Amino acid sequence: GAGGRGVVISDNWPGYSLDLFTYPQHYYGDLEYVLIPHGIIVDRTERLAKDIVQDIGDNDIVVLCVLKGGYKFCADLVEHIKNLSRNSERFISMKVDFVRLKSYHNVLIVEDIVGTGRTMKVLLNTIEKYKPKMIKVASLLVKRTSRPDGYRPDYYGFEIPDLFVVGYALDYNEHFRDLNHICVINDHGKAKYRV
Ligand code: 5GP
Repeated sequence: GAGGRGVVISDNWPGYSLDLFTYPQHYYGDLEYVLIPHGIIVDRTERLAKDIVQDIGDNDIVVLCVLKGGYKFCADLVEHIKNLSRNSERFISMKVDFVRLKSYHNVLIVEDIVGTGRTMKVLLNTIEKYKPKMIKVASLLVKRTSRPDGYRPDYYGFEIPDLFVVGYALDYNEHFRDLNHICVINDHGKAKYRV
C-alpha cells in the first residue's frame, strides 16, 4: 500500500534515552531504552486510520480487536476512524468486537504485533470459515524476521528489529501494559518479572 513498510526502525537504531521522557516509577531500572515514544505511535495511528477509511470507508466494518495486547492500538485506531467519520461527508458504520465470531461482513483485525506471523495465520484461518466479504489486518508493529516468506499485514505502523518490546499494552508476563512508550526491557527488568 501507500505506506510501504511503515516507519522502518533499523537494527542499529539506538533508541531514545529513558531520561528524555516520563514513565511509571515502578519501572525505573527495568528498561533499556525507548524504541518508539507514545506521541509517534499516536501520530502514526492517525495516518493508518486515514488510509483504512480511504480504502474501506464505504463499507460497514467490524473491528476485531485481538486481546489483550491489541487493546491500546485498537482503541486509538477506532477513535481516529470515528473522528474522520465525524468530520467528513462519509458515514462509516463501525462495530467493535473481541474475537467472538458471528456472521461478519467486513472484518478489520487489529493486532499489536506480528512476529513470525504464525498467530495471525491461525486466526485468519479461523475467521475465513465465517466467509466474511472482506478481511483486512492492521498491526501496530511488524518484526523484521529472517524469514523472507514472513506474513505482512495490510496496514502497519512500524517495522521494527527482531527485539522483544513492551509498553502501549504489550506485556512481559502481564507487566508493562501501563507503560505509554514502546520500550526494550533490560536484564534487570527481565529477571524482576520472570515467572
Ligand atoms: P507470532 O505468532 O507472529 O510470532 O507472534 C505474535 C504474538 O506473539 C503477538 O500477538 C504477541 O502476543 C506475541 N509477541 C511477539 N513478539 C512480541 C514482543 O516483542 N513483545 C510482546 N510483548 N509480545 C510479542
